[in-house]
Formats: sequence, C-alpha cells, structure tokens
Amino acid sequence: MATINDNYLKLPGSYLFAEIARRVAAYKEANPDADIIRLGIGDVTQPLPQVCIEAMHKAVDDQAKAETFHGYGPEQGYSFLTEAIIKNNYTDRGIEIAPDEIFVSDGSKSDCGNIQEIFGTANKVAITDPVYPVYLDTNVMAGRTGTLQEDGHFEGVVYLPCTAENNFAPSLPTEKVDMIYLCCPNNPTGTTLSRAELTKWVNYAKENDAVILFDAAYAAYITEDDVPRSIYEIPGAKDVAIEFRSFSKTAGFTGTRCGYTIVPKTVTGRAADGSRVPFNKLWNRRHTTKFNGTAYIVQRGAAAIYTEEGQKQVKELVSYYMENARIIREGLKAVGIKAYGGVNAPYIWLKTPDNMSSWDFFDKLLHEVNIVGTPGAGFGPCGEGYFRLTAFGSRENTERAVARFAKLKF
Ligand SMILES: *Cc1c(COP(=O)(O)O)cnc(C)c1O
Repeated sequence: MATINDNYLKLPGSYLFAEIARRVAAYKEANPDADIIRLGIGDVTQPLPQVCIEAMHKAVDDQAKAETFHGYGPEQGYSFLTEAIIKNNYTDRGIEIAPDEIFVSDGSKSDCGNIQEIFGTANKVAITDPVYPVYLDTNVMAGRTGTLQEDGHFEGVVYLPCTAENNFAPSLPTEKVDMIYLCCPNNPTGTTLSRAELTKWVNYAKENDAVILFDAAYAAYITEDDVPRSIYEIPGAKDVAIEFRSFSKTAGFTGTRCGYTIVPKTVTGRAADGSRVPFNKLWNRRHTTKFNGTAYIVQRGAAAIYTEEGQKQVKELVSYYMENARIIREGLKAVGIKAYGGVNAPYIWLKTPDNMSSWDFFDKLLHEVNIVGTPGAGFGPCGEGYFRLTAFGSRENTERAVARFAKLKF
C-alpha cells in the first residue's frame, strides 16, 4: 500500500491568492463595469531588456546549426554566465566567490524551497513573520515542524516578528536555532536590514553554529548605501551563509526563469559521526542528481545583462518600478496612511488606518476605489493590520491608482 507524506496534510490550502481572486470575481460580477487596478501580485509587467531579447534570438539560431548546437550543459550553469555573475556581483565588490560555489537554476523559488533537503530534519528553523511562504511551507513538507496552531503558527518553528514596533528588524531568537531564513530587501514588507543588523545575525550564526539562508531576490532594488547587496559583504558571512539570487525581479525574468545560489565551501554542518561536511558538496550532489541545467537560450539571455548596455537597461527597468514605488508612497502619505518600504524594494507595506483588519481594508480598497492589493495577514500573523501594494504595475495604472486614494472615505 502506498502511503502519503502526511506532512503535506499539515499545510492549510493556499488560501491567500485564491481568496483574493474569489472576492475580486464576486465584486466584478456585481459591478461588471468596474475598472479594477491590480497592485496585488508580485509579478513584473514590463518587457525584458532589449539586450536579453537579442541574446536569446541569437541563442535560438545557435540551436539551429550542428556546429553551434547545445545539448545538456553543465548542471551548475555555463561559465559564460557564472563568470559574469561572479565578476559583476561579487569580485567587483571585493567578495571572492569560486566558480564551484555558484549554482545556476531555473529561479530562486526552487532553490529556496529545495535547499532544506541538505539539512537534517531535526534542525530548528527560524523564520520572520510576516514571510514569503516558500521557506515555511517547504520545511512543513519535510517534517521539520509540528502542526498548525490556533494562533496561525506551526509548532516547533521559531517565529521572528517584524512589525513597525521593531522597525521590521527581527530580534535574535532567545532559544538556539539551526537554520535562519532572511529575505533582504524583504517581500512582503519592502524593508531592509542595515549592515549593523545583518552583522548581528552573522555573529549569532557563528556563535550558535547556525546557517543563514539569505534570499536576496530584490538586491537590484537597493538604493541606500548602508544596505548590503550581498550578505557576503558582512565579515564572516562566507562561513555561515547561503545566498539566493534571481533574474526575475532584476531583469523581468519571472516568465523566462533563471536564478542562482551561492554555497561557499566554508559553510559546513555536522554529520552523524561528528565530522564537519561542507554544504557545497551536498548541494552539488543534489543539484546534479535532480536538475539538468537551465536552458542554454535562457542563460544567454541572463548573461546579456552583464554587458555595459545590459547594465544600463536593467537600471532603467529597476528605476521605472522604483519611481512607481515613490508615487505610491507619496500618494499614501498625502491621504494620511502610514507606509513603509518602497525605498530599497518594489513593495509598499502600509499600516491599515483605524486598526482595520487586513481583509477589511482589502474590501474597502476594492469597493470604494476598485484597487486590488494583498492583505498582510496572508503572509503571517504579524502581517495582520498591514497591507501590501506592489510597484510592479505600469506607470499609467500606478498613477491612476494613486489618484483614487483621495476618494477613500475615512
Ligand atoms: C520573486 C521572489 C523570488 C524569485 O523567485 P523566482 O523563482 O526566481 O522567480 C525569490 N524570493 C522572493 C522573496 C521573491 O519575492
């Protein structure tokens, strides 16, 4: 008899975006002429940089001739891409990453979700609250947690609250943890951790023999100097941190799919016999066993962003969204709504007025001004009373949405 992985039954349904869709559909049904503006889902809207398009067209032609055809490539990524990544994002910033410490993939959701496989199941996991759901759900699936409690927390997980009260900078856990997920700049809060805050975490990890799983999907959106682009800018981080990066938000690759993970050979864990084993060796084994490489055409497209022209086009794309973020932030301020984030990330995290619940505010925005956002409570119990708007819309829709804020009734 085939049994199932019962851990999957501990997970609630993926309620958030389904419930949003249900409420929007019901409103549309009752108000068929409503002009709804969506500032909810975290997906980009603008086309790929032209350099990526040209590089991919050329790569398609490569596949048309036997002399330039590419079959299976190295699972860890082609050197034309990995060398460009290492030079631009690490070496040029004074960080040394070896070619065998980088693993190109089909995006960082897969990597953030799969990384926990190379850790023991008895490890204690710490995650921020609110949080990108992938870190938590994959640990639930792996059996690293108990069941979901009444308070919305899984038993056995250490939650690190991030609210306006602590400036969205989580406090160090009071109990010992082994795996720490940090997302910086953060989705959903749009906030970041300063160099000093991150240093605190690196030191904690060193003192407690823990590993930091650092999701830097939004690194390209950082505008302030005091915010590290990579965790490896913090001294000692190469001994305790694994870093995830993606082309999705950097260059509009959400539908094209490419990301990468850095696993320094100096990050180790303890084996059952007491010996120290580099996670790099385990991740390489996993990656080469379960993954057969990112498409050649896609890797050519990704590599194009590291040309001079590519860097220019990517900066323009990021600036476009960040100008949207500024417009949203200013628009909220003008109507007296307190908002956070949007300076080093394309997300605005607003405090709902009059202590409304996240879902009540969702209904208010939808019904009064036909704008769809994301209720903060959907990202964890500490997201209650907050609400996420994204800067990933078109400029036109962003401006139209902000003009409507003034019509909200308080
Ligand atoms: C969008 C996003 C990613 C990137 O996911 P891909 O699979 O690379 O598209 C990773 N982490 C967070 C927090 C994100 O919001």
